[in-house]
Amino acid sequence: MKNRYIAALLAFFLGGLGVHKFYLRKWTGVFYLILCWTYIPTIVSFIEGILYLTNGEREFNRKYNKERSTYQQQSSDYLEQNYNSSSIETSLSKICQNCGKENEADSNFCERCGNKL
Ligand SMILES: [Zn+2]
Repeated sequence: MKNRYIAALLAFFLGGLGVHKFYLRKWTGVFYLILCWTYIPTIVSFIEGILYLTNGEREFNRKYNKERSTYQQQSSDYLEQNYNSSSIETSLSKICQNCGKENEADSNFCERCGNKL
């Protein structure tokens, strides 16, 4: 989780070297490094630092934390768990949770009661 206050501080003090861009995993930081002998990256990153602070937490997270937001992390963990449990089941027979009948491993519905497996 990237912190917008840290990003802003980096932009203010080390922005001329593109450090805030590297912190945010933006490859455009390379341009700041290349142009660090001019004042351009310093000015641009100063403005960016102000934008990080003024645009608010939600906007910042949408831009820079979208790949690992808490919700997405939770749902991908959930999917992974489901995937793991279903891959274990395919090697064994499926027990119906409704009536207890053992069904073929590749069947999706119970033979006896039609319950979804
Ligand atoms: Zn059943």
